[in-house]
Amino acid sequence: MDGFVVRPTRVGEGVFAARTHASGDRLMLVRGERLHRSQLPPIGVPEDDRFVQVGREEYLGPSGDLDDLVNHSCDPNAGLAFCDDGIWVVAIRDIPAGAEVAWDYSTTMDEDDWEIDCACGASACRGRIRDFKHLPDETQARYVALGIVPEYVRASSP
Ligand SMILES: [Zn+2]
Repeated sequence: MDGFVVRPTRVGEGVFAARTHASGDRLMLVRGERLHRSQLPPIGVPEDDRFVQVGREEYLGPSGDLDDLVNHSCDPNAGLAFCDDGIWVVAIRDIPAGAEVAWDYSTTMDEDDWEIDCACGASACRGRIRDFKHLPDETQARYVALGIVPEYVRASSP
């Protein structure tokens, strides 16, 4: 995929900008087989973070492409925008060449029964990645204003 490179990180691999991407840019599509919640692998298998929740009971499986490798950050420079033409990773601030692209996994999570330790390294790291509804109110509001919180998540976080 143009404009990105995969490099090792402390959690395995990550996607890094190979050139500058401007805030608001669409970076890549999130793709994969559409799966029901009941079709997910058990929690704790090494690849379980490659399944992205995209609806109340719906997930996308791994695509085999770069979008599988975009990591979580508690201080993200990207987010997921649910658009008519697909689910896009979009830059929410300018991303300089060499920076890791990351989004906050909590922005798409409405699960109740899934959480994972976070080692993203951000100074604002929450330590645990949990459902959107557990984020501080001001963080929720900022993400909603950025257009990176899908409808099924907003609907369960009044
Ligand atoms: Zn973190």
